[in-house]
Amino acid sequence: MKEAEKMITALVDVREDFPILKRQINGHRLVYLDSAATSQKPKSVIDRITKYYETSNANVLRSVHTLAEEATEQFEESRKKIAGFIHARYPQEIIFTRGTTESLNVIARAWGDKFLKAGDEIVLSPVEHHSNLIPWQQLAERVGAHLRFIDLERDGTITVDAASARINSKTKIVALSAVSNVLGTINPIADIAILAHEVGAIIVVDGAQSVPHQITDVQKLGIDFLAFSGHKMLGPTGIGVLWGRNELLNALDPVIFGGEMIEYVDRENATWAELPAKLEGGTPNIVGAIGLGEATDYLEKIGMPRIEKHVQALTEDAYRRLSSIPDVTVYGPSSPHTGVVSFNIAGVHPHDVAQVLDSQGIAIRAGHHCAQPLMQWLDVIATARASFYLYNSSIDVDSLVDAIKLTRRYFKNGP
Ligand code: PMP
Repeated sequence: MKEAEKMITALVDVREDFPILKRQINGHRLVYLDSAATSQKPKSVIDRITKYYETSNANVLRSVHTLAEEATEQFEESRKKIAGFIHARYPQEIIFTRGTTESLNVIARAWGDKFLKAGDEIVLSPVEHHSNLIPWQQLAERVGAHLRFIDLERDGTITVDAASARINSKTKIVALSAVSNVLGTINPIADIAILAHEVGAIIVVDGAQSVPHQITDVQKLGIDFLAFSGHKMLGPTGIGVLWGRNELLNALDPVIFGGEMIEYVDRENATWAELPAKLEGGTPNIVGAIGLGEATDYLEKIGMPRIEKHVQALTEDAYRRLSSIPDVTVYGPSSPHTGVVSFNIAGVHPHDVAQVLDSQGIAIRAGHHCAQPLMQWLDVIATARASFYLYNSSIDVDSLVDAIKLTRRYFKNGP
């Protein structure tokens, strides 16, 4: 615990870098515990966006004037930074999208429609966010494939053995989140990737909750596609990434047709540009990509190993302390457990919990967290969820725990 305590306080000073955290909410210091929904942004990212618009704004990849060249250079520089951040082999493996949802939809359309056929199987888990479920449901319906779900342990973890029991010669796609946005579980992606490849399937990883918090090395993980969102890792909204192995991306046909993504067009036909342009039809979110590049600089400056340890220590501390409050049920394993703590207070609707906490300046999420099949598995209609990032500290966990005790007393005994 000593080591964990050290880590918990180690990053407190970064709070100063996040202007919004100076706000008072309902007369209290803002305690932002909703980073799994979207993270706050450091001043360096906010300033970078302003600087781009004030000094270099132009469209990319089109004109040869100075501003257009500057904009293109900065846009492509960001692609290189993001490739480095996830240890991709080539910058052109980074395809800019609007976020995780769009990335997963593109994979399902572009890879799934081309390579899946009737009777093939797609292996998922019951924990998945709707973004990593519905595109596969739709794909299965279009081509006549079947979804297969890995059995969860009682605490919601996914084991390699359970994955192995679902993966067979009919499996063509395994699609899993690396970290659950409800249970905080960390899935054994590298081992499951080996199982997928043994039967000739591909593995698609939803990295929405893992890329912001852990070192991501797509080569070491041995995965085929990765989807993640900029806004959950200190970047702007509306920008995300689809990463794929070069040879897989090369095999895809575009799903968005129009400007920027062509090589040659005549009245009847068109041919496609090289990667990454082939998969980035239309004017991209230029400033979003540049802001995300700046966010990766900031994360690397603080250090991903430090962030990973800090967030996991805070999350496990919150898990332990909330579990010890009577009437409180906390979901998922106690350890390892990262990023989010989902819980319920017996007899109190999570929306009411969130409302009482808001009155104390504490922002949490309440609802099904876009994971309704998981709510069905947990046999609840919703949960409250506190989520943590590098700017949170043990002081925030103290505030959360005190407010939960207050909420419980309030609903049990009245005001
Ligand atoms: N997958 C997971 C695990 C998530 O937590 C989220 C965001 N809540 C998404 C996918 C979807 O991300 P976005 O809305 O940024 O596309």
